[in-house]
Amino acid sequence: MKIPESVRIGGVEYAVEYVSHLNNGVTLAYGHIDYDNCKIELSDTSGTGHERRCQVLWHEILHGIRNHAGLEIENEEEVVEIFAKGIYQVLQDNGGRLFDLKEVTNDGTAN
Ligand SMILES: [Zn+2]
Repeated sequence: MKIPESVRIGGVEYAVEYVSHLNNGVTLAYGHIDYDNCKIELSDTSGTGHERRCQVLWHEILHGIRNHAGLEIENEEEVVEIFAKGIYQVLQDNGGRLFDLKEVTNDGTAN
């Protein structure tokens, strides 16, 4: 999975930005979605691996979907985190079965 420069959620384009020392007001955070400014912020902490960063992006996308639907979820953080990891895993393991993906070589051309 790639991390794009922006994602569209509920018809709204959210920029994806990297932030150092990302903070949720209490502790350091891996990600944050800013509904007012339409952006998703990901921690640029070097210790965060690509896989974890992809899960965090899904986590924030799911918050965005919930917000767009106007849904209230009890234990939102736990629910969002379970689905973020689950969706990431299913897409990683089945991407080629679910989408018409073309293999891309190192020079960027499709095989
Ligand atoms: Zn969250």
